[in-house]
Amino acid sequence: MSLPPIKRVLLKLSGEVLMGDQQFGIDPAFVAALAGEVKAAKETGLEVCLVIGGGNIFRGMAGAAQGMDRAQADYMGMLATVMNALAMQNALEQLGVETRVQSAIQMDQVCEPVIRRRAERHLEKGRVVIFAAGVGAPYFTTDSGAALRAAEMKCDALLKGTSVDGVYDSDPKKNAAAVRFDTVSYDRVLADNLKVMDASAVALCRDNKIPIVVFSIREKGNLARVLAGEGVQTIVQDS
Ligand code: UDP
Repeated sequence: MSLPPIKRVLLKLSGEVLMGDQQFGIDPAFVAALAGEVKAAKETGLEVCLVIGGGNIFRGMAGAAQGMDRAQADYMGMLATVMNALAMQNALEQLGVETRVQSAIQMDQVCEPVIRRRAERHLEKGRVVIFAAGVGAPYFTTDSGAALRAAEMKCDALLKGTSVDGVYDSDPKKNAAAVRFDTVSYDRVLADNLKVMDASAVALCRDNKIPIVVFSIREKGNLARVLAGEGVQTIVQDS
């Protein structure tokens, strides 16, 4: 099974990939390298939307586990995604790629609010649109934010660039015999609770028939390979 032709794509990057080899935060050199991959993808004629997580800085669940109010901690996580979005915007602009950041939490001094029609216009003008702050509500993740933006922007696919090279039948970090799927259905992902994205994100993609492509963004050139239908990846779509 392969992907349908892709004209507009939503690329979701986990916050942790911005850390590079650090344990925390943002590695500007690594963000610059990621920006180079995004630029190359755009130069193939694609329209590119980006969603970046915040896990390299703060996750609400981690705060809650240490006794914080969950919603308060989630808002901090959302703010972390805005910092990452600004770091990526900076890196892309240093490469000459025009971008706009749209945040689901209004922050007029640093970025635009999420306005779908305006985002459409940015894409038409060849800009990369970076959507920040997830869905703008606690108890969600940026995976759900990515699925939501992919649906409303009518993206042909949601590419999840992370630190693993696809979806496995069990955790490859714990089980050396874990097997990677080339393709797997949304329903199997949900029924077996496979670690791809959270269930609400997978269900939203299923209901809107948006294929999810899970791949490792840590390997140089992988985004281009995946977009060319090559390379190591798992495609989640209807069976
Ligand atoms: N978050 C939230 N609502 C959203 C998106 C994110 O509350 O719509 C918070 C949540 O606490 C989450 C944190 O922001 O843990 C960072 O996002 P995420 O964990 O999705 O980042 P990633 O794992 O992709 O780096």
